[in-house]
Amino acid sequence: GPPNPHSKDLKIDGVKDIIAVASGKGGVGKSTTAVNLAVSLANRCKLKVGLLDADVYGPSIPIMMKLEGKPQVTPERKMIPIENYGVRCMSMGSLVEEGAALVWRGPMVMKALEQMTRGVSWGTLDVLVVDMPPGTGDAQISISQRLQLSGALIVSTPQDVALMDARRGVKMFSQVNVPILGVLENMSYFKCPNCSESWHIFGKGGAQKTAEEMNMQFLGEIPLEVGIRSGSDEGVPIVVSHPDSVVSKAYGNVAEKV
Ligand code: ADP
Repeated sequence: GPPNPHSKDLKIDGVKDIIAVASGKGGVGKSTTAVNLAVSLANRCKLKVGLLDADVYGPSIPIMMKLEGKPQVTPERKMIPIENYGVRCMSMGSLVEEGAALVWRGPMVMKALEQMTRGVSWGTLDVLVVDMPPGTGDAQISISQRLQLSGALIVSTPQDVALMDARRGVKMFSQVNVPILGVLENMSYFKCPNCSESWHIFGKGGAQKTAEEMNMQFLGEIPLEVGIRSGSDEGVPIVVSHPDSVVSKAYGNVAEKV
């Protein structure tokens, strides 16, 4: 569709590409993916990387990236992103008390996002990774248009309901002319530590099939793994704590493909 003439151009000085990590529904591992992808782009691909937590209602980046304190402000009143693991981060969770943004209406959220993008001294960035809010509604459409996304990566579990929502996400991005970079399947299987058999808890091969049906690149499978969950909870992403693990290599592959 045509760009919204009323939307302000949020193209950010010094930022080359902006890519979104999106999902049709919550809880599929979108933020975990955004974090591990951003760190991989920085450490493995040697790019200058920023990470914007656009999930204003449920910001999880400060915990997952172990961000401490509030952003400093430059004399020009721009916020300085908090850097960790080679990634410059900006999240509502670093700006307001927990839960404070929960009651905000749409316009407030868009205003906050504007400050968290153009009101930030990012420096030069090869890529800004955006952890989108879950879902495919108005908020996601506004963000996509106002950030002038270069592309979007869709995260889904192999479960049918998640894939259905993922397809809706793909349609939403195509409506606003944002190219889909590919589909990453998360929680693809669980490898039993006792018998080393793979259990396909949420179904098998669904995301790859969906990607093929919709003519999109399939970016790979990330298993359900305790280390991924604990890395997120402890603020040390698995690509930092176990850079040579199978999973970290899979994230590295995604980083190279997008
Ligand atoms: P979303 O951003 O889609 O809501 P999160 O990235 O917050 O999802 O993930 C939801 C929960 O699932 C978190 O507790 C996270 O640590 C966990 N998680 C995500 N991906 C995996 C995985 N591959 N293996 C184990 N736990 C995971």
